[in-house]
Amino acid sequence: MTATSDPERRTAVAGKRELVRALNARIQLLAQQSGDDSADKTQVDFVCECSHESCFAVVPMTLTEWGAATSEADYYVAHPEHVDAGAEAVVAGDRYALARSDWRRAYLEARVETLDQS
Ligand SMILES: [Zn+2]
Repeated sequence: MTATSDPERRTAVAGKRELVRALNARIQLLAQQSGDDSADKTQVDFVCECSHESCFAVVPMTLTEWGAATSEADYYVAHPEHVDAGAEAVVAGDRYALARSDWRRAYLEARVETLDQS
């Protein structure tokens, strides 16, 4: 089964990514609030934004790295071994990978398809 053939699965995958991105944004806020000026260099446990619905792997990144990773809307962060086969890896480090994909557009398209079917 391919990841993109089933609209419901695509919605689930994209929904997981939306969920984890929202979670990671909260983690960032909490880390910023609890830290002093050195917090930017402290590693924070973010959550893997890969396409596996049940993956919530820990992805340690500094707030500075996270800020850079989310500066582009079509970037997502993932465990280094979890970059999608079709995605373009921007950063592939020991702790985390940063990849580019049109996951937000895929999410919107999948939602439209699901709505059309109901
Ligand atoms: Zn993952």
